[in-house]
Amino acid sequence: LRDHLKDPSLLREQCYIDGTWVGQPELAVNNPATGAEIAKVAQLGAADATRAVEAAERAFPAWAKLTAKQRSNILRKWFELIIANREDLALILTSEQGKPLSEALGEVDIGGAYVEFFAEEARRVYGETIPTQRGDARLLAIKQPIGVCGAITPWNFPNSMITRKVSPALAAGCTVVLKPANETPLSALALVALAEKAGVPKGVFNVITGDAPPIGLVLCEHPAVRFVGFTGSTEVGKILYKQAAVGVKKLGLELGGNAPFVVFDDADIDAAVEGAIVSKYRNMGQTCVCANRLYAQDKIYDQFVEKLSKKVAAMKIGDGTEQGVVQGPLINMEAIDKVERHIADAVKGGAKVVTGGKRHSLGRTFFEPTVLADVKPDALVSREETFGPLAAVIRFKDEADVIAMCNKSPFGLASYFYARDLGRVWRVAEALESGMVGVNSGLITTEVAPFGGVKESGLGREGSHHGMDEYLEIKYVMMAGV
Ligand code: ADP
Repeated sequence: LRDHLKDPSLLREQCYIDGTWVGQPELAVNNPATGAEIAKVAQLGAADATRAVEAAERAFPAWAKLTAKQRSNILRKWFELIIANREDLALILTSEQGKPLSEALGEVDIGGAYVEFFAEEARRVYGETIPTQRGDARLLAIKQPIGVCGAITPWNFPNSMITRKVSPALAAGCTVVLKPANETPLSALALVALAEKAGVPKGVFNVITGDAPPIGLVLCEHPAVRFVGFTGSTEVGKILYKQAAVGVKKLGLELGGNAPFVVFDDADIDAAVEGAIVSKYRNMGQTCVCANRLYAQDKIYDQFVEKLSKKVAAMKIGDGTEQGVVQGPLINMEAIDKVERHIADAVKGGAKVVTGGKRHSLGRTFFEPTVLADVKPDALVSREETFGPLAAVIRFKDEADVIAMCNKSPFGLASYFYARDLGRVWRVAEALESGMVGVNSGLITTEVAPFGGVKESGLGREGSHHGMDEYLEIKYVMMAGV
């Protein structure tokens, strides 16, 4: 990998604590497309996490005291460096994660867009004055950075999940200790190398790799940490929620989803097929906003399934660095097992495999993108997030039924539907229990809009001006004796 980078210094194996690169390379990082080891990273634990938190604590007062413009300028520089190095960052990302290079470039661009956006937002943290209830007093509310923040990120978006947390934190005046996923630490280390170059002072942004549970415990329990931002599984999110309760820490949780994708009979079917492909098969179906259960209305059901499976059957599968590849390998063997379990369960219940359905002849963790038809509404795939390239299409009769099926889930991250009738569009968008709704679009993520879930899909919002609020505390000041 190093030989293929324009700037080989972006491939880092050590951690970054208090402005110093530390730790010995121990933990192998493998390319899921080839199985080859591409680097080793340090395996740090609780003691190093504590050191990192203390460094962030020491760095906090000076960073918080900079003017918004000063912090904004440093973030802007970081953004410019990300874009200047986008090809290297994308290659690192594809090599450790597997997604096609074109998607990796897209992720680096949106990763950078978060930094750009929050560099701008840094200068728009306004407070308010409140009409007073007392003649001798004036009331105001000011916003201040919450303090040291922990961030724990997953392997499916190794670049943008980091900038989406770290850039609003730094913009607000907070300092950060980040623990990226062990499958994909190299993108995080490259990003912090660029942040160092951009002039982020020592201790302000620390990255540690290694043992997740002890590091997570320090981030949740250390008294200096005031906020923990997490993206990952609902299972781990719940552990962190409990751990953080002890010190009453504020938490941002972006957890699992189980997104419904509904095609009504008044939809533009070709557009719905395009949307389903983007929503379902992007990153090989490994995104938390992936369409997980597809509902098509009676009248257009056969047409939708036929058009969708035709496109899916034509997808090029392979190493993400190969030209024209749109589906790479899944992240690991457990991911394959889960897809197979969902297919077997649906087929047992009477579903038909229209295309795909099995491991790909390329071996490893390559899986054929799959479409299942005649899936029963209560199949396992409709209840659990698959996190793989499997579109399970369920038939439905009317609007009320499909809304009930969509909402019959403990999760509520994203929902999608395709329809043209204006009344229906409003009714359904309002009725769906999810933090985000895509109407006639399968791709909704952007740095300017609030991303997040309801129910067991999480707490808080990332991106948009709401994404800054997570990292700010409101302080009410009464000035009396006027
Ligand atoms: P996924 O299923 O996407 O791998 P996880 O929730 O297991 O999701 O992982 C998301 C992130 O949480 C990763 O960085 C992982 O290392 C970290 N993680 C896993 N277990 C724990 C834990 N007990 N405490 C803190 N972080 C954890």
